[in-house]
Amino acid sequence: MHTSKQAILWKPLKEQKVQCLACCQFCLIEDGERGFCGVRQNARGELVTLVGDNVAAMNVDPVEKKPLFHFMPGSMTLSLGTMGCNFSCSFCQNYTLSQPPKEYQFREGQPVTPEQLVNTAREYRSGSISYTYSEPTVFIELVLETARLAKEKKLKNIIVSNGFQSPDCLKEMNGLIDAANIDLKAYSESFYRDQCKARLKPVLDNLVKIREMGWWLEVTTLIIPGLNDSAREIKEIAEFIKNNLGAHTPWHISRFHPTFNLTDRQATPVETIEQAWQTGKEAGLEFVYTGNIPGHNGENTFCPACNETLISRMGFQLRDIRLQNGACAGCGKEIAGYRLSRS
Ligand code: SF4
Repeated sequence: MHTSKQAILWKPLKEQKVQCLACCQFCLIEDGERGFCGVRQNARGELVTLVGDNVAAMNVDPVEKKPLFHFMPGSMTLSLGTMGCNFSCSFCQNYTLSQPPKEYQFREGQPVTPEQLVNTAREYRSGSISYTYSEPTVFIELVLETARLAKEKKLKNIIVSNGFQSPDCLKEMNGLIDAANIDLKAYSESFYRDQCKARLKPVLDNLVKIREMGWWLEVTTLIIPGLNDSAREIKEIAEFIKNNLGAHTPWHISRFHPTFNLTDRQATPVETIEQAWQTGKEAGLEFVYTGNIPGHNGENTFCPACNETLISRMGFQLRDIRLQNGACAGCGKEIAGYRLSRS
């Protein structure tokens, strides 16, 4: 049996109802029921988490796999996630973790303590811990407890997230999280509503807040044929990043493969990803990357000043690095993120 423990970020309402304040779903939950994510439950008028100590997936990954290309490049990160998610994406790549709790199906995870997680990260020589795979917001208690301890032990903390945290949740994370990869899945409310059961506006607001809070930030967009692949929408995403997050923000454009409830269309043509890459560069973004196309030239980091290849990659492996003290070895331009991530 999974255990439950008191949740944070909620408020009591009349008649033993509660409202969860962890994410922008802001679920109103009746006694005995769970929120939309399926892992936060009203137990006689108190909100409890069912995944406070219940890790369902854990691996030691290259940090490039998150993907983070400008934060501690070439390092390993202990990556963990629980069951449950506050989105229901038709194209979810981790649906076996994220969706079953919504149907009251709960695969047993592995009970862990924050101490064990931090010790495991150190044992495997990871420079950081990544809260990932499903959605860290729904296991915020475990994230915060582990991140505090990790920070004391000089490990960095990373979230890989859909960016749908409530303002209070982001505040709790601030000061503990060092880097984030946030999905910007599309640039239309209809996509977020119909494909994810969520909303775009809070994600845009949170991206701006994260930039202001000073975490290292990279953004990922999965391009899906017929859903978010119009030239107009791709340009809007690129321009949002440039104008609101800064030209130095890395943008990862990933290739969709049919999965979960979205099997009625083919994988994204490589030419579409290449066109999106071009659009990102034309919008003024300095670091645009292709994803899910191993060996593609778009995986490499180029100097925005002299166009020298600074880091060449094969998938998640670094092959050649031409950086000196976080700057281009050719022209000396400082490259965003690299100096920061060595501190
Ligand atoms: S974290 Fe879960 S319970 Fe809380 S508001 Fe979000 S979806 Fe609802």
